[in-house]
Amino acid sequence: HEKIYRKAMRKVYKFGGASVKDAQALANLGAILRKEEELPALIVVSAMGKMTNAFEKIVTSYCTHSPDLSSQINDIRRFHLAIIAPLFKNSTPVKNNLEDLLDQLRHFLSTNTNTATDFIYDQVVGFGELIATNIVSSYLNETGIVNTWLDVRDYIKTDASYRDAQVDWAATSRQISTLDPNKCYLTQGFLGADPGEHTTTLGREGSDYSAAIFAHCMAAESVTIWKDVAGVLNADPRYFEDTHLLTQISYREAIEMAFYGASVIHPKTLKPLENKNIPLYVRSFADPTKTGTTVSKGKALVPEVPCFILKQSQILLSISALDFSFMTAHNLSGIFSLLYAHRFKVNLIQNSALSFSVCVEDTFDNFATFLEAIKPAYKIRYWEGVSLYTIRHASEAALETIAQKGSVLLRQRIEDTVQIVVEPI
Ligand code: ASP
Ligand code: MG
Repeated sequence: HEKIYRKAMRKVYKFGGASVKDAQALANLGAILRKEEELPALIVVSAMGKMTNAFEKIVTSYCTHSPDLSSQINDIRRFHLAIIAPLFKNSTPVKNNLEDLLDQLRHFLSTNTNTATDFIYDQVVGFGELIATNIVSSYLNETGIVNTWLDVRDYIKTDASYRDAQVDWAATSRQISTLDPNKCYLTQGFLGADPGEHTTTLGREGSDYSAAIFAHCMAAESVTIWKDVAGVLNADPRYFEDTHLLTQISYREAIEMAFYGASVIHPKTLKPLENKNIPLYVRSFADPTKTGTTVSKGKALVPEVPCFILKQSQILLSISALDFSFMTAHNLSGIFSLLYAHRFKVNLIQNSALSFSVCVEDTFDNFATFLEAIKPAYKIRYWEGVSLYTIRHASEAALETIAQKGSVLLRQRIEDTVQIVVEPI
């Protein structure tokens, strides 16, 4: 390959796990970049394939002292070696880098004394991104797509809320402003660093957000998320028949969809882009000739169809006072403090005279302790493993399809949004 030196344009590209899941995917990524007249200013890459899940298992094994730990690390090593093998003429440097990072991981695991699971999680899981970006950056450089690898932890600065780190925007934009606008950089999504220089993560699937943070601070012209789907659909084809590609979505509509759990765009991604009016393109990695979806100012939704969002593994709680008293602001503030303290994601609330219903997601495995904490003061009924369907721009026919998914436990309409909690059959 001849070297391709091209001026960077003010664009940010993000390639997720599926776009770097094997050697062929990396070759495709290279082909996409080679077709561009100029390289993007920044390429954000997340962990390869399902590697983040594999690293999560490492955390569990470590915390439970499982004997499987070292064989699991070796599986991760072999997964990456298999991707490297067909791609490099001289694979020694990139292999050394992989070994080096795995040694750092082993070193952390054998010397760590901090018992906080969320801290351990971020230190361990971040290696998925570090390994992936080293391989992708080396591969692109080898094939003439000249790029500079960055350790994103020198740029995205956060607080120490491990697994859900909050961005320090002032420090982050200060760091990002030091980048050379004529270069093409490649870096990790999902990660940041706290003031103590420990790795933090921005929440699962957070690398879209990383791309948006950079775009915001660089005043980029656009962000493109390359996906293993054609763009944003009006429903997840795994659970719904007859889906449609949305070609245009306004920021507001996209924020609503992401808020209710549409998984194509990470919910935090939109605000930094909307604030600087930076369009977001969601495009097909497999078919780059297609235009995909544009999220920008403009029409709320093209085409105008009902949109379905499904959240599974929810817990529906019905909470009432022990002494038949009303659910008032006084009760509710106590309940909300508990929900907040247990870091539940609250997805729906409904209040009536004697009971307060709330549909939550127990992201951090706190349900058992929550029950212990709330039981002395309230009567609780709950349904675990329920599904929450949100329908935007619902039609009667659209609502009918949801009623067939199981027994309806709760239903609520606010303006253009209907939410239905269903106990699956
Ligand atoms: N690798 C991380 C995850 O799978 C971040 C991302 O893919 O955006 O959650
Ligand atoms: Mg991922």
